[in-house]
Amino acid sequence: MKKNILKLGVALMVWGSILPSVQAQEVAREAKLHTYVMENPYEVPKIKAPKGKKVKNVVLMIGDGMSLMHVYSAWTANRGKLYLDNSQAVGLSKTYCANELITDSGAGGTAIATGQKTNYHYVGVDVNGNELPSLITLSKQKGMSAGIAVTCRLWDATPADFCCHNIDRDDEYDLIADYVDCGADYVVGGGAQKFENRPDGRNIFQELEAKGYQVARSWEEAKAIPSGKIFAVTDPKDTPVPAERGDRLAQSALKGMDIMSQNKKGFFMMIEGSQLDDYGHFNDLDLLMQETHDFDRTVGAVFEWAAKDGETLVVVTADHETGGLTLVDGDLQKGEIQCKFSTGSHSGVMVPVYAFGPGSEHFTGLYENTAIFDKIATLLKLKK
Ligand SMILES: [Zn+2]
Repeated sequence: MKKNILKLGVALMVWGSILPSVQAQEVAREAKLHTYVMENPYEVPKIKAPKGKKVKNVVLMIGDGMSLMHVYSAWTANRGKLYLDNSQAVGLSKTYCANELITDSGAGGTAIATGQKTNYHYVGVDVNGNELPSLITLSKQKGMSAGIAVTCRLWDATPADFCCHNIDRDDEYDLIADYVDCGADYVVGGGAQKFENRPDGRNIFQELEAKGYQVARSWEEAKAIPSGKIFAVTDPKDTPVPAERGDRLAQSALKGMDIMSQNKKGFFMMIEGSQLDDYGHFNDLDLLMQETHDFDRTVGAVFEWAAKDGETLVVVTADHETGGLTLVDGDLQKGEIQCKFSTGSHSGVMVPVYAFGPGSEHFTGLYENTAIFDKIATLLKLKK
């Protein structure tokens, strides 16, 4: 009995000491409520998964900063349907980096691209700054084709993780210069302002042309090129917001797959919904949902292409979460979501990995972000 009274006393003391933090939580609950209603929902047909087992090509799709909250919010806003629902397997990826619990896209993307956890802000290098071969490099070494298509500037961390090497993700001019030697057959993104009129006097567009690339300075120009190596830098910095650029990401993904699938040895392609991260940082729910839906429609276009092809594995994931997004209320019939953000930065949570096509069964379960590289490299029989 005495023991119980003692326990009660200790419990009350502990309760007293946590009271201030309870008050802090009350304040945190006052975080601004953002409401979004999707005016024009899109239909999502069932996509029949291919039956074969052979993995000839892999398309890796990254929603930068996309957590299950982003996916579930977008699903609610589109009246309970997304192309992602056609996935055959789902897993969870742990995103922490070598020296920080909460990663950035530099280290987060490097883990996926190269299979090694590295330091915060590093791109395509290990913790000692040594260059690491990426899925692009290794695919090229095997005689396959390789490419990327993104909606950001090409010196931004995620595309740079696959094509560049630097301990500083802000070393923009050096990152862009790395594209000359990265070996990719197909590149689409923004960032023209760092390719020419550079402090080092180099003109990266001319150097790319000397390497056999057909350089396009707009998406219209890129679209008209029927075959061969394409390097399209469509905008001075990032590509326009989703409503202004239309389905350009889906178009650039499909064009890359059409061209690179002419290689009998297969291809690897990375496609990024880059601006999810930006709108998470801005806590802009409207633009965040627009970019997430654009990414999902691109997923749909890629799934449909892969379903017809039969030998293409599609993996869809994220490098980390951005914004601490939480869906607190909503209406499935009206396509309304009410959300709060807990940060203007990244948060620590496992992110989903979706897979469609042959080999997708390998992506179920719980694993490190580096395992995504391992699984893809094993399925494509790349020399690690
Ligand atoms: Zn970010």
